[in-house]
Amino acid sequence: MINRSRSQQPALLKLCAALVLLLLVFPQLTDARVQPTHGFDLFSPQEEVQAGQQASAEANKQLPMLSESDPITLYIKRLGANLAAHAPGEKWPYNFHVVKQKEINAFAMPGGPVYINLGTIQAADNEAEVAAVMAHEISHVVQRHSTRAATKQMEAQIPLSIVGSFLGKGIGGQLAQLGISFGVGSYFLKNSRQAEKEADLLGTDIMYDTGYNPRWMAEFFRKLEEQGGARTAQFLSDHPNPGNRYQYVTREAATLPAKRYLPDTSAEFAQIKQRAMGMK
Ligand code: ZN
Repeated sequence: MINRSRSQQPALLKLCAALVLLLLVFPQLTDARVQPTHGFDLFSPQEEVQAGQQASAEANKQLPMLSESDPITLYIKRLGANLAAHAPGEKWPYNFHVVKQKEINAFAMPGGPVYINLGTIQAADNEAEVAAVMAHEISHVVQRHSTRAATKQMEAQIPLSIVGSFLGKGIGGQLAQLGISFGVGSYFLKNSRQAEKEADLLGTDIMYDTGYNPRWMAEFFRKLEEQGGARTAQFLSDHPNPGNRYQYVTREAATLPAKRYLPDTSAEFAQIKQRAMGMK
C-alpha cells in the first residue's frame, strides 16, 4: 500500500508541474469570469421586481422620456436585450428606456428597468461604447446593488423581525413607511465604489460574451473622466470611479480568451447617433 502510494508520487508531481506549465503558457485556461456575488438581501426576487416596477412607473412620469416607439428607444431596447441575454445569474425581466436629457447618465432600478440618457448616446463614438454603459447597468441589476444597499440600511435602522413582517405583507406602502425609495434621485440608486468595481468587471464579461470588444468599457469611462464638467457630473456621482478603473477593466479583459469580436460600430448606430444629435 505504502509502496504503491510512494510510486504514484512522482507521477502526481509531474502532473501538477504540467498543469502549472499549461496555465502559465495559456493563462486564458484560468478564465477569471466574474461570478455574481450573493450578498445578503432581505428582498425576495418578486419583491425586488415589484419595487423596481413601482419606481420605474414613477420615473416614467417624472422624467422627460423619449417615446417608447422612437427609433432610438427601439435600438436601445434591442441592444439591451442582446446584452441581458448574456448576463449571468437570475433572469430578471429587463426593460430599457431612453431619457431625453443631454447630460451623460444611465441608471438601473431593482429587478430590471434600465435607463439611459440621450446625452450618453450623443457622447458615444461607437456602438460598443453604448453597449459598455448598458452592460455596466445590467450588472447593477444582476448584483442586486440597490436592494442590498437598502437591506444594509434597514438592518441598521430596525430589528430584523420587524423588517421581515414589513416585507412579508408586500412591498409597496411598507417601503415608503421605512423611508426607502428606488425612485429618481434615490440614495439607493447611487452606487458605492465597491459596487462600481463589481459592475465594471461583470459588465466587461457581459460585453465579451455578447461579442463586443470589452476594451470599450475602459475607453468610455476614461473619456468621461477626461471630459469632466457638468455633462458628466451626474454619471460620475451615481457611478463613482473606484480608482484605476481603466487599468482593472483592461486587466479583466486580458484574462478572456482572444476571439473575433463584432464590429465596434454599425451603420444603424451611425443613423441613431445622427438622430440623437439632432435632438436638443
Ligand atoms: Zn455604476
